[in-house]
Amino acid sequence: MKRVRHQRARLKCEFPVTHAPPLTLTTPLSAVPSVGPSRAAKLRKLKLRIARDVLFLFPRDFEHPPASAGVDELVDGQSVTLTGTITDAELVSRNPGRSIFGAILENDSGAVRLVFFNQPFRADQLPIGRRIRVRGVAKLNGLRFELTHPNVVTLTDDEEDDVEPPILPVYPLTEGVKQFELRQLATALVPKLASELAEVLPEPLRQRAAQRLADAGPVTPPNDEPVALPPIAEAIRQLHQPRSDAEVAAARSRFVFQELLVMQLALAMRRRNLTTALRAPPIQCTPKIRNRIWRRFPFDLTDDQTRVMATIAEDMRRQFPMNRLLQGDVGSGKTVVAFFAMLLTVASRYQATMMAPTEVLARQHHRTLTSYLSDARVRVGLLCGSLSSSERRETLAACASGELDILIGTQALLYDVRFGKLGLCVIDEQHKFGVDQRVALRSGGVDPHYLVMSATPIPRSVAMTQFGDVELSTLRSKPAGRGEVHTYLAHHGWRDRWWQFVRQRIGEGRQAFVVAPQVGDQPELDDGNVDDTVTSVTSIFQELSNGPLSGLNVALLHGRMETETKERVMNAFAEGEIDVLVCTSVIEVGIDVPNATVMAILGANRFGLAQLHQLRGRVGRGTHVGHVAVFVDGSHSPEEDERLKVFASTTDGFELAEEDFRIRGPGDVLGRRQTGLAPLRIADLSRDTHVLQVARDIAQDLIDENPDLHGAQWEGLRMQVLRRYEKTLDLGDIA
Ligand code: ADP
Ligand code: MG
Repeated sequence: MKRVRHQRARLKCEFPVTHAPPLTLTTPLSAVPSVGPSRAAKLRKLKLRIARDVLFLFPRDFEHPPASAGVDELVDGQSVTLTGTITDAELVSRNPGRSIFGAILENDSGAVRLVFFNQPFRADQLPIGRRIRVRGVAKLNGLRFELTHPNVVTLTDDEEDDVEPPILPVYPLTEGVKQFELRQLATALVPKLASELAEVLPEPLRQRAAQRLADAGPVTPPNDEPVALPPIAEAIRQLHQPRSDAEVAAARSRFVFQELLVMQLALAMRRRNLTTALRAPPIQCTPKIRNRIWRRFPFDLTDDQTRVMATIAEDMRRQFPMNRLLQGDVGSGKTVVAFFAMLLTVASRYQATMMAPTEVLARQHHRTLTSYLSDARVRVGLLCGSLSSSERRETLAACASGELDILIGTQALLYDVRFGKLGLCVIDEQHKFGVDQRVALRSGGVDPHYLVMSATPIPRSVAMTQFGDVELSTLRSKPAGRGEVHTYLAHHGWRDRWWQFVRQRIGEGRQAFVVAPQVGDQPELDDGNVDDTVTSVTSIFQELSNGPLSGLNVALLHGRMETETKERVMNAFAEGEIDVLVCTSVIEVGIDVPNATVMAILGANRFGLAQLHQLRGRVGRGTHVGHVAVFVDGSHSPEEDERLKVFASTTDGFELAEEDFRIRGPGDVLGRRQTGLAPLRIADLSRDTHVLQVARDIAQDLIDENPDLHGAQWEGLRMQVLRRYEKTLDLGDIA
């Protein structure tokens, strides 16, 4: 009996009438009636501390409860909604641990039984004659359907029987916090507090955004008016207690827009900051200088290349650092654009440096540039791991004194080199580095211009976020006369024919790559077992040179070899002395041997799309048609097969990148290191691209008009920008 009174007492205090201090947005949840200290502690795990936090707890999904059904339509095991009247009720025992409450719910179509264990208070909630709506799973018990612990809503008299159940928010949960608790809490707090929230998006801004979203958005169904962005109180209500899907959509678009706007404002502020706070050496470009540089290149530039060079020259003329990302598909000819910028810098008597992700690539750039510059006075140095310490000392000294005009090297080594007069820093294959790299060099005391190059095309939406303070240039077209590349999804049975084909091409004077995913013979798996289904370079090298490709000059290249050996092999391959290079993905990045036109990728299912595309970029660089055969090994999942199909279906790196982005999401495409900004909470970049574009445009306009967001109407927005991005984006002077 005691226990029962206790239960009732608790029930009562869920709806307090007196005593409680007034509820405000900042009321700690522990002081919210119906919560109490122990639930408050659990809610803290969801980062819910004060009442306001509950308002901003965004549902991760919405549940559309089934429409009310008749008893005659019930199916065993399915969840249902039923409306009716309690016609019988019985509390079997009130003993704790043993109480069972049963009731009969009846309507025109029949009756079901409701059962509750250890919830004696249900006896008070569900007296005979009460009209209720229940939601739960219908189980056939004998001849009657039974619902155990259904969700119960008491209906008032004026409510019609056929009022449909509302859409229910589905909140993220944590241990010890139940869905219905959060719903209860939101239902209690939202109506009382939503109107007290301060609006950070002034009305005209919400109108402007709505208009632009309607213009930019995916085609709206013809009968859909463009939805205005709702004010904050309305949006919060729509989010927690939506009356329709349209309300959910309206609320969502407001918060997605707001989140992206705040981010884009931060990035626009930073762009502005960088242009006003930092000084970089102005680099001159006259037609005379330009032509003198162009004459050094052994081919005519493509229109795309000259266009980007002009933009870069324009950037570097200014007194603040260029910060440009040059993206172009593999083989689009980015290197020569970088060389142009570097030689322009040298012409203005500043130094230029170029970072590559691997030594092989650094050496290749050094070799190419040196050959363009034969008998010029420009001094080009190379810094990489295999230099002797005296060579290195000499190079570093020449660099510090300003004697050296250009230094090419691997990223790791260039990191803390001192330059006498650094004017430009080029970073090749940017996707191999993190964004922080760039920032680190910049804060090292000098403010050079930056040119960052990437062959992994970055989806527009990602470029606008992760690289929001970077200007973007793209090489779309490839140098003329480029051979096309055919990709074949091959199967095991093709191998012999393929090697014959390779022999033929080599007979015609071409060269070939064979790429495999593993170095060792018997790769160990995490569990210590040996996975012999994965093709290894060493075993395929043995197999090919003794079998199908015997008599040809076959060489091996992988990352575990000595640097000198690697360099020797690479050189020999570039010189055409080696017919077939059997290698791991070390060749993935940047390697340029135009005479190599055939490639087999073994175990292709083990490579990502971007990587496969990089690999394919090694062939078809000359005027000959390229051929890539893709073989899978071991067991391959349907996703892997799908990926390879996509790969074979297009050679357009941009298309592949968008596809990759769609399949894997932004985080994975960029890799963890690159995600410099706080993760987004509501917006989904692969879905909300058009909102992002609108947010970016509006942010840029706002900052152009009002760089520091002065004025009372912007205060809320400004605070949000600072709270979220001040540290990561170094917005100090705006605060
Ligand atoms: P990526 O953009 O992948 O770095 P590269 O800069 O290595 O491409 O260029 C690929 C190949 O195309 C190189 O052999 C380069 O010399 C050649 N190339 C670049 N621009 C042109 C051009 N305008 N005409 C002909 N060949 C070019
Ligand atoms: Mg390159």
